[in-house]
Amino acid sequence: MSNPYRCPNCKTNKTRFNKIEQIAQPIKMDAQTGETVDSYQNGNIEAFHIIYQGPDYKVQCAVCGNIEDERAFTQFAKLGH
Ligand SMILES: [Zn+2]
Repeated sequence: MSNPYRCPNCKTNKTRFNKIEQIAQPIKMDAQTGETVDSYQNGNIEAFHIIYQGPDYKVQCAVCGNIEDERAFTQFAKLGH
């Protein structure tokens, strides 16, 4: 299912966008060096590690450069005239 977009910033663009796929990678890093010490490739993330549950996509308006959650663009399209 697809929904129309409209940029809530410039308010005119309904056709040109950059869809930015968000792929959250859980990591554990060394506090001193910033080196990744675990990227949980085997899937056993600690219980207290909050898993990313945000939107799959960010969207950038390719006219004014505004970046928002996809929802901001679809909501604004619904308000549109
Ligand atoms: Zn815009």
